[in-house]
Amino acid sequence: MKKIVICGSTGSIGRQTLEVCEWFPEELQVVGLTGGSNIELLAEQTKKFKPQVVALADERKYADFKRLLGDCPTEILVGEDGVLAVAGLSSADLQVAAISGLAGLKPTICGLQAGLAIAFANKEVLVACGQPVMKLVRELGADFYPVDSEHSAIWQSMDGRGEVASLVLTCSGGPFKQATAEEIYRATPVDTLKHPTWSMGAKITVDSATLMNKGLEIIEAHWLFDMPYEKISAVIHPESIIHSMVQYGDGSLLAQFSYPDMRLPIQYALFYPKRRANSLRPLDFAEIGKLTFWAPDEERFPCLRLAREAGMAGGCAPAVLSGANEVVNAAFLAGRITLGQIYDGVAAVLSAYQMGPCDTPEQVIEADCWARREAEAWLRKQSC
Ligand code: NAD
Ligand code: MG
Repeated sequence: MKKIVICGSTGSIGRQTLEVCEWFPEELQVVGLTGGSNIELLAEQTKKFKPQVVALADERKYADFKRLLGDCPTEILVGEDGVLAVAGLSSADLQVAAISGLAGLKPTICGLQAGLAIAFANKEVLVACGQPVMKLVRELGADFYPVDSEHSAIWQSMDGRGEVASLVLTCSGGPFKQATAEEIYRATPVDTLKHPTWSMGAKITVDSATLMNKGLEIIEAHWLFDMPYEKISAVIHPESIIHSMVQYGDGSLLAQFSYPDMRLPIQYALFYPKRRANSLRPLDFAEIGKLTFWAPDEERFPCLRLAREAGMAGGCAPAVLSGANEVVNAAFLAGRITLGQIYDGVAAVLSAYQMGPCDTPEQVIEADCWARREAEAWLRKQSC
């Protein structure tokens, strides 16, 4: 039995991880869950999977949560300390890191320090804190398995036998791939939350529509695979069948193909190095017919360029980009700004940033807090 804790079990990745656990009840045991504030779903999951311990981040909801759990014997913890205790549960073998945003940083570090393998979905943590986190992974010799579909595809396509020339990240293009710059700029949350191929949490769905997500993933790939930015590119592939590719020096290119379904990369990370059979639909190329590709248009999608430039600038610039993006993305979802203003806000914060050192998680958190304050100040000016 592999014992698993899921940080962020009520989110899109967390729920799909639990589905995979249900497929393999003899091999995967859920021993810990954490959730932010959706107490109804967290209680339902706890009663169903009966983990040893559950942590609710929003401690104000403890009494209601306890009532929902009834006589369920699972130990309940609350607040950030509770989440961290579950993230580093000593009886577990593997943590699924599926909290969204930089809130996932401390839980990831706790899991690493407790000696757990990490199935890692939370890209914002690597974007903001790639250098210190990967340093810790190397120092501890930890197992750190990518879950993001593009990075899982690259990992699956690395045969370890040749010089890698470049990485190519595929990208569905989101709901506005054919829209004009003006339509993209004015887009509302209702238009934006209709992703054509993937069903995901709201924040990442917005990031996919601006292509900020692809920019964040380029930075994530830089850290995960120790690859210079010049050797990482993105290509629009609207069918979402090829999930990313590795180009080798001999002219060969290896890629991973499947219908888009996050349960596949989640399962791959949970069982690595084994590939286990499941009931996911095999690919039917006759049904698919054709696969298309084109270069992303950075004029219409300037967030992609902005993210790559922040990555190349290094230091805490990616942390500033990601922290400001979290704030303006949430403001967009709340109806305060239009989609195009996400770029305006993040670019304004980045241009005001004076580069400082970025070697420790504390320095990253400081830069992130500064970026959030700046982004809030920028938002207030827009309301005026
Ligand atoms: P989501 O918003 O659906 O879920 C986020 C989870 O984190 C929830 O359980 C929430 O309660 C918890 N959470 C949020 N803030 C918290 C806090 N401050 N403290 C404790 N818990 C908190 O997000 P998601 O779509 O599942 O994405 C999770 C991560 O995985 C993100 O970093 C995202 O970029 C990445 N990712 C998601 C997908 C996808 O298909 N959804 C694909 C690739 C990568
Ligand atoms: Mg992805």
